[in-house]
Amino acid sequence: MDIEQFRKAGYDAIDRICAYHYSLREKPVVAQVKPGYLRDLIPNSAPQKGHEWASIIDDYQRDILPGLTHWHHPSFFAYFPTANTFEGVLGDLLSSSTSNPGFNWFASPACTELEAVVMDWAAKMFGLHRAFWNVNEVGGGVIQTTASDSALTAIVAARTRYISDHSGTALESLVIYVTTQTHSFGKKAGMILGLRVRALDVDATVTTDNTGLTGEVLRAAVKEDHARGLHPFVLIATVGTTSTGAIDQVGEIGAIIEESFPSIWLHVDAAWAGVTLACPEYREFAQLPGINEHADSVCINFHKWGLTNFDASSLWVRERRRLIDALDVTPEYLRTKEGDAGNVTDYRNWHLSLGRRFRSLKLWFVLRSFGVEGFQANIRKCISLNNSFVERVRACPIFELVTPPAFALTVFRLLPEPAGNTDELESVNSLNRAFYSDLQSRPDLALTQTSLGGVFCVRFAVGSTRTEQRDIDNAWKIIKEAGENVLLKMGL
Ligand code: PLP
Repeated sequence: MDIEQFRKAGYDAIDRICAYHYSLREKPVVAQVKPGYLRDLIPNSAPQKGHEWASIIDDYQRDILPGLTHWHHPSFFAYFPTANTFEGVLGDLLSSSTSNPGFNWFASPACTELEAVVMDWAAKMFGLHRAFWNVNEVGGGVIQTTASDSALTAIVAARTRYISDHSGTALESLVIYVTTQTHSFGKKAGMILGLRVRALDVDATVTTDNTGLTGEVLRAAVKEDHARGLHPFVLIATVGTTSTGAIDQVGEIGAIIEESFPSIWLHVDAAWAGVTLACPEYREFAQLPGINEHADSVCINFHKWGLTNFDASSLWVRERRRLIDALDVTPEYLRTKEGDAGNVTDYRNWHLSLGRRFRSLKLWFVLRSFGVEGFQANIRKCISLNNSFVERVRACPIFELVTPPAFALTVFRLLPEPAGNTDELESVNSLNRAFYSDLQSRPDLALTQTSLGGVFCVRFAVGSTRTEQRDIDNAWKIIKEAGENVLLKMGL
């Protein structure tokens, strides 16, 4: 494709993207295809001779698009919805048009410098203490691919810090602390690093008030592990867990770590709910004071609820040197005059890979185009839409909220009255599995499930920028009817 062909194909692609977004509401939310459908449509090997662009893009439209789940459909309430804005799309388009794997300052100064600046914009928007700002040159922020990578990076830095402060410690005695509600990346990090992982049980507090880890649970676990000759060196706390949006008590936990176990690194995973820190009214609830006072690192994904297309996971650290100590390997071919002089940031030492995408461009576009007020408005809109769903669940006698609602997430289940008919856990669970399976088979909305202390529940997460009140109303109608039908079938 030459430049003029690209111009034509590019305009056409933008037209197709617009048509896609115009038609989203009419599409099934979930792909209506069977496993393996694409194998039958696409040849087994790449073509010997290249194809005309027109046929390639038509095949995309015909074969690929129908196999996509439409995450930006207004009725997508599954997982945590992921962000999509046209500012983000244009940022990705432009950054891929110059393809700079800006791993150090020299490799593309603007990639590094824009990232350092927008991460400070974001830190200020979220109210993060200046200790985390790039401009102070002690802490700082970096954009990672995902929250899983952010956590893994923090754990690697924590391990290096622990080993250098406690030389001679056997790696087998190190323990990563997570909770029973931490995202699965905690266990995965243990598998990758070959380290023990201990999950502190928080299910009881989550079920009662949707708070998670408290200081006392942590203190007891550390004492127990120390007595067994083990060394917990990092704790992953979560603000807004995946299952229920639970909130670990970061201030309380952080104070105990600081006072009694200062060699434990506190990483706060606020991948989903962290963006609410942009709104002053949520800062206390979302643990900002604790984060500012005690966290060694904190992760907030812009690509979940932060208007910025996947991928854009922000990681702030209190001491950048901890990342560099753990990750800097500089052979001759990576040396630069500026790096040697130490007056630039080389982001390759702040994450696991070498090359990196120019993600700050889309974040810059998003923050400039929406402004802080537009960013806050999106958060408040989603929470308010979720609240309208919560009210309906509360008012309907056949449902119950399993946990108090958190931000824009509702966790609920069928629980018909009188509860005496169905108070056996397994029978309520099988009722709810039937209800969920009914919802899952529908093309017109998407939800996901979870289990809390053995209780099967359904999650309803609001986050798509296109979701409006009418979509909540429609979803409620579908959900209520599905619930009533299941009860009818079961004779309840
Ligand atoms: N942390 C929380 C609380 C999440 O909900 C998720 C995913 O939903 C993750 C981490 C993992 O996010 P990522 O896909 O960016 O690794």
